[in-house]
Amino acid sequence: MRHTLRTCHDGLATLRPLLLVILLLSLMPAVAHGQAAAGKVAATDATAELKSWVKGSLGDWVSLYQELHTSPELSLHEKKTAARLAAKLGEMGYEVTTGVGGHGLVALMKNGSGPTLLLRGDMDGLPVVEQTGLPYRSQVKVIGDRGVEVGVMHACGHDVHMTNLLASASFLASHRALWSGTLVVIGQPAEEVGRGAAMMMADGLFKRFPRPDYALALHVEPGLPAGQVGIVSGWAAANVDSVKITIHGRGGHGARPHQANDPVVTAAHLVTALQTLVSRRVDPQAAAVVTVGALHAGTKNNVIPDSAELLLTVRSYADDTRATLLDGIRQLAGDICRSFQCPKPPEVEVSKEYTPAVYNDPELSATAAGVFRRVLGEDAVAEIAPTMGGEDFGRYARRLKIPGLLFRLGAIEPKLMARSKKKGGPPLPSLHSSRFAPDARRALEAGIVATSSLVLQLLPPAQAQ
Ligand SMILES: [Zn+2]
Ligand SMILES: [Zn+2]
Repeated sequence: MRHTLRTCHDGLATLRPLLLVILLLSLMPAVAHGQAAAGKVAATDATAELKSWVKGSLGDWVSLYQELHTSPELSLHEKKTAARLAAKLGEMGYEVTTGVGGHGLVALMKNGSGPTLLLRGDMDGLPVVEQTGLPYRSQVKVIGDRGVEVGVMHACGHDVHMTNLLASASFLASHRALWSGTLVVIGQPAEEVGRGAAMMMADGLFKRFPRPDYALALHVEPGLPAGQVGIVSGWAAANVDSVKITIHGRGGHGARPHQANDPVVTAAHLVTALQTLVSRRVDPQAAAVVTVGALHAGTKNNVIPDSAELLLTVRSYADDTRATLLDGIRQLAGDICRSFQCPKPPEVEVSKEYTPAVYNDPELSATAAGVFRRVLGEDAVAEIAPTMGGEDFGRYARRLKIPGLLFRLGAIEPKLMARSKKKGGPPLPSLHSSRFAPDARRALEAGIVATSSLVLQLLPPAQAQ
């Protein structure tokens, strides 16, 4: 189901500019006043206004966060979450289109000439039974994709991302004099399964809506205290490929191995040989991972099975490293099976649904670091290490060849973090843990200020362009 929500603000946008000004003056004195002051507002004034706006509204955003936290939905099932976001963005004056690539939504605000900026929040939760004990914990249970009941939890902080997105969108909508250009705010489904960005693009994200000049997103970071942000310049998250290898042998009696062809032995050699791809073939300066996460063969100690199956996750940053790994896997599997006289060649299946690496544009990263230091303080901005984790946000900038940035938002209550960092301190729950409990209030305060400030920097008022 796909439909477009239009609000009274969008209706006004089609009227003549003079009428628009008159209507705004009569209906929205606060906004109109802000517009009249356009161009005169120095960055410091804008920051002061933003900070006081965030302080004044933070309680509401924390409530929204808790509501979202209590009612998570699994990847590809984000229907109610998307409807909630769509309604709120519509109330703010955005032109909202739902059903873009599954439950994806696009909220558009055209505000004069200038660049177009895409701001992305992801909406899906995870099949995890929450064990935080928080009063607003999720108690949602659904029948999962495998037909069994699963708990659902926002264990990756996408509820923080959505709240940050809505709050920043709200500030920008109510302070249009501070910026000029076009905002494309998107609620992306299915990030946890690496598909949402591709689904939205396949459904015309960049054809039906304005093509962005920048793409921005954030992700909560359990390695940083709430109140801080982290930036990685350059490669930030990895190419993620899933590979399945099937080795064919010839089954038989465990006491008569000479009459069989044992795929378990072939698989064992292949697992060992695969370790040499990273250690011997990839440039030591390039990052790469080959992990055999599953190895299935056989049913009983005295039965030689017919086949063995290996499931791999393969990670890299650069495209040529990715090619080295995938070509090497095919070659080693083929050659090892040949040397062990397998009755037929192995099948090597590389999943089509791979997640491309996230590359943070160095210039945009430097701009963001400067803005964040100015608005949050020197000590609040950390340079952090890239991860071999995956994030499908990288697809947007990669497709359009535009600067993109996924920055990190500190999520952990600072005292808890300090205690955990002491020698022998208690470990903190990671992302995807059933005990992951971000300090949402502090994180959101920093996140909304950081996000909105960066947007103001990239979409300056028309007079300043
Ligand atoms: Zn996640
Ligand atoms: Zn996530």
